[in-house]
Amino acid sequence: MTSYDDFVRTDGGAVLMDGNRLRDEIVAGIREEIDSLGNPGVCLATVLVGGDRPSQIYVRNKHRKAGEAGMISRHVELPEDATQDDVEHAVRSLADDPEVHGILVQLPLPAGLDAEAVLDLVPPEKDVDGLTERSMGRLVRGRIGHVPCTPLGVMRLLERYGVETSGKNAVVIGRSTLVGLPQVLLFGRKGCDATPTLAHSRTADLAGVCRQADIVVAAAGMARLVTADFVKPGAAVLDVGISRTEAGIVGDVDFDSVQEIAGAITPMPGGTGPMTIGCLMENTLAAARMLGAVPG
Ligand code: NAD
Repeated sequence: MTSYDDFVRTDGGAVLMDGNRLRDEIVAGIREEIDSLGNPGVCLATVLVGGDRPSQIYVRNKHRKAGEAGMISRHVELPEDATQDDVEHAVRSLADDPEVHGILVQLPLPAGLDAEAVLDLVPPEKDVDGLTERSMGRLVRGRIGHVPCTPLGVMRLLERYGVETSGKNAVVIGRSTLVGLPQVLLFGRKGCDATPTLAHSRTADLAGVCRQADIVVAAAGMARLVTADFVKPGAAVLDVGISRTEAGIVGDVDFDSVQEIAGAITPMPGGTGPMTIGCLMENTLAAARMLGAVPG
C-alpha cells in the first residue's frame, strides 16, 4: 500500500483527503486481485433510461473504471419514452443472467416511471448501489449486503487518512436514503463507534450543532453551506454536495475558509465523487464473490 506519510496539506495546513488518489488505489487493487484469479469475468451491468446528460457522463465513467479494474461491463440503454414494462423487462433479464454480477440502475428515471418498483427487481446480491429496500434492511440489521457507494466512500477516506472515529461526534447534514441516512448508520456501527447526529433543513442552529463535531459530512446540495463558523478546529470535513451554479460546480463546503480551521478536508471536485465510483467497483467484486463467481 502507498505510504501516506506524504499527505498533501492545504495552504491552511489541513490534510487533503484526495479521493482520486484513493479511488485509483482501490481500482488498482481490484485489478490485481482479478488478474490473480485468472480474469473470471466479473461483470457490472448498467441500465440508463433517457438522455439526461449528467447521467450519461456518470455511466460512462463507471464503465471506464470497470474496464481499468479488469471487469467486463454491459450497458442497456432505453429511450426517454420507455414504458415501465420495458425497464422492468431489462432489469429482470439482468437479474436472471448468471454472467452478470452487479446491476446499477442509473437514477433518476424519467418522470412517470416508478423507480421503487424497478429497484425491487434487483436481487440484493447484485445490488451494487446498495439502494434497494432489502439492502437498506440488511444495513440496518447488520447483515452482510451492499452498502451505498457514496457513504461507503466517505468511510474509506476516513480510514485511509487515519481519521479516528471511535468515540467521536459525527454530524451528517442531509437525511436522504442515498447518502445521509446510510451515512449515519455506518458511523454508528460497531467497529466505527462514532456518535452520529443527523442534521437536516429543520435543524435548529446548524452551525452550532456542526461545531460540536469531530467529523462533518455535508450532503445537503446547498452551495457553500458549511463555512468556517461551522467547524471545530481540527475537525475532518467531507463534502458530498454538488450544486450547479453560475460559477460552475460547487460543493456544500466553503473550501477556502474551512481549510484554515479543519484538520482534514476533501477537495471538490476530487473528493467524495471519485470515491463513489471506487466503492462501486469494490461492491461489484464483492457481488461476484457473494454469487460464487470468484472464490473467497
Ligand atoms: P436530497 O435532496 O435527497 O437530500 C438533501 C438533504 O439535505 C435533505 O435531507 C435536506 O433536509 C437536507 N438539506 C437541504 N438543505 C439544507 C440546509 N440548508 N440545511 C440543512 N440540511 C439541508 O439529496 P441527496 O441525494 O442526498 O444528495 C445530496 C447532495 O449530494 C446533492 O448535491 C447531490 O448532487 C450530491 N451527491 C453527491 C454524490 C457524490 O458522489 N459526491 C453522490 C450522491 C449525491
